Amino acid sequence: MAANTVTQAVYEQVLKRNPGEPEFHQAVKEVLDSLGPVLEKKPQYVEAKILERMVEPERQIMFRVPWQDDKGNIHVNRGFRFEFNSALGPYKGGLRFHPTVSASILKFLGFEQVFKNSLTGLMMGGGKGGADFDPKGKSDGEVMRFCQSFMTELFRHVGPNTDVPAGDIGVGGREIGFMFGQYKRICNDFTGVFTGKGLEWGGSLGRTEATGYGLVYIAEEALEALGKGLEGTTVSISGSGNVAIYATEKIHQLGGKVVALSDSNGFIHAPNGVHLDTVKQLKLVERKRIKEYVKTHKTATYAEGCNDVWNVKCDIALPCATQNELDVTAARTLAKNGCIIVAEGANMPCTPEAVDVFQKNKVVFLPGKAANAGGVAVSGLEMAQNSQRIFWTFEKTDTELKGIMANIYKKISHATQEYGCPGNFAAGANIAGFIKVANAMLAQGLV
Ligand code: NDP
Repeated sequence: MAANTVTQAVYEQVLKRNPGEPEFHQAVKEVLDSLGPVLEKKPQYVEAKILERMVEPERQIMFRVPWQDDKGNIHVNRGFRFEFNSALGPYKGGLRFHPTVSASILKFLGFEQVFKNSLTGLMMGGGKGGADFDPKGKSDGEVMRFCQSFMTELFRHVGPNTDVPAGDIGVGGREIGFMFGQYKRICNDFTGVFTGKGLEWGGSLGRTEATGYGLVYIAEEALEALGKGLEGTTVSISGSGNVAIYATEKIHQLGGKVVALSDSNGFIHAPNGVHLDTVKQLKLVERKRIKEYVKTHKTATYAEGCNDVWNVKCDIALPCATQNELDVTAARTLAKNGCIIVAEGANMPCTPEAVDVFQKNKVVFLPGKAANAGGVAVSGLEMAQNSQRIFWTFEKTDTELKGIMANIYKKISHATQEYGCPGNFAAGANIAGFIKVANAMLAQGLV
């Protein structure tokens, strides 16, 4: 059977079996569309039904999360964990707390995570979870009660050699702390069941910065391949959360200038470069909106509407907010304004049509699977430190991270050459990530 007939049949089965899950369909299609040349070369994957197995999570968990607010009112949220693939190690992937969380979004994230974790070269399978809970505007006590209730069900499914969750949108150090505490209390076991832990109780130096720093390291590799460097470049970034903030920090350290940042309400344009300490204070400490920035920085402007951040002229664009935030119109504007690299800090922030525009206009496009893998890579290093009960220095972790990102760039470039799609790093990432998982699945038999 021709490779494209195989991938089409798998895709149709995914549509039929997972109705009403557009984000999951999109993520699966994007991977299947690039695997044709691999299946032509290695028919053993087709025979063993590797694709059919990979699009079906190994286990799906959905549960009720009841909790009480400060006034004594009772609320009920829905919790999830999708344990997608454990061929390369324990399930690994974040928890997202956001009102838009659904099975579709978490399945797309869990599916992508399998390939991303494979690219890091570390021993990690893929999974993702979360809840449709909105931590915004909740007191610390409310967030704690929610996290404890969430963990009172999830504890039975996770463990340091089974499934090791981490943070994602809406889940930072505070939430990880509350969930870890509840796990420890129920299981009577102090163990590395989460990554992104506090530094005093098992966290790794460098984990907080890892996704943003890693994103910049891989963008630097791509720039070098073009004979250029970061010094003097202007950069636009969407979001102003963990990934956006630490990408900004690393860009500034390396001599570039971040001129735009956003949140879900709007964006700031700071032609002289954003003042990162102010952004950190607003977003990480005071948990305020990005528009507050212009109150203390008069040369910057604020505009409502987060999508317009891409109208700001830049050499490099780093979408670091959420899925499908950068559409075809934004992609055309970026290409027209001379943008040379787009690297995804968020997961799937660029729509498929936007990616087509980048390919057609020779804008280097680095997909999230590769470009934002730094976070999970350092999570893997946190697991390694926990197993040995040791702590590495920041410098050691950062050097490892840099090496891992350079290696990912090498792997995906190599795959584009070997499988006849030069310049298409999205395909390169899918192919390189897939082959490692597929080989492990073949070796482990029909499971
Ligand atoms: P945070 O919660 O720290 O920040 C998210 C940022 O994105 C906030 O500024 C938020 O604005 C903005 N945002 C959220 N939803 C929307 C929306 N619908 N439209 C516009 N802006 C939005 O999350 P992270 O920085 O951790 O994660 C950002 C992305 O990076 C996600 O896609 C995540 O999956 C991905 N990622 C994160 C990793 C990590 O280590 N943290 C690792 C790999 C990927 P507001 O404050 O208004 O909500």
